[in-house]
Amino acid sequence: MFYSGAIMLIFFLVFFGICTLGTVFTIIGTIVKNDWGINLDPIHCPNCNHVKSSLFRKPKNIRQALWGGGTCDVCGTEYDKWGRALGATAKR
Ligand SMILES: [Zn+2]
Repeated sequence: MFYSGAIMLIFFLVFFGICTLGTVFTIIGTIVKNDWGINLDPIHCPNCNHVKSSLFRKPKNIRQALWGGGTCDVCGTEYDKWGRALGATAKR
């Protein structure tokens, strides 16, 4: 009986540990603006300052589907969720 209780306790500690870690990653990511963070503000294109019109983003590749960001409808610049230019289309 003690043994199965200990297994349940370990399971819940690991489960809540992972949940807490995910929350901490998201909070830190939002502060330092990395891929883990959440950006609720509209994204301006880093090249032409165009704001994406649609609220629902349509990912053009796996990176955009996983980590957010998008491709500008006007000039085609790819940017991350914080509006920073990425990849080969970036003009700096
Ligand atoms: Zn643009």
